Amino acid sequence: MLLIPCPNCGSRDETEFHYGGQAHVAYPENPTELNDREWAEFLFYRDNTKGAFAERWLHSTGCRQWFNMLRDTVTYDIQAVYAMGTPRPATANPAASESGTASLAAPSTSPDALSVDVPIGARKQPQLIEQPASATAPSTTAPEGATK
Ligand code: ZN
Repeated sequence: MLLIPCPNCGSRDETEFHYGGQAHVAYPENPTELNDREWAEFLFYRDNTKGAFAERWLHSTGCRQWFNMLRDTVTYDIQAVYAMGTPRPATANPAASESGTASLAAPSTSPDALSVDVPIGARKQPQLIEQPASATAPSTTAPEGATK
């Protein structure tokens, strides 16, 4: 059982919280331009990090506020708790997630999108989704068995 330090309420039992998945998943800048594969990757594909992992938590039976937490997925050590919309803190164990420091200061995105604190959408940080250089969707290809 984890003892989670809520930034508003202090340390509380894990059962008071809900896990919100990976933090810092950027909402696509132009979602209508994504093909089905890219959209599915945004919706469903997440890192499976061994080590320090930034994740979202909701103190659902307490202050009902979202926050980010940096937790080691091996040792369950809670390394940092920080507010939604703030960049991932640096760790001694930067185990991989490239989502870490693509910071709020990225100049190419609109300031409105960055200042809104949307926990579920997590649209703070731009372009974490790798898009293939070429359109790989063979949209003209009929499914197998569609033609004789
Ligand atoms: Zn709380």
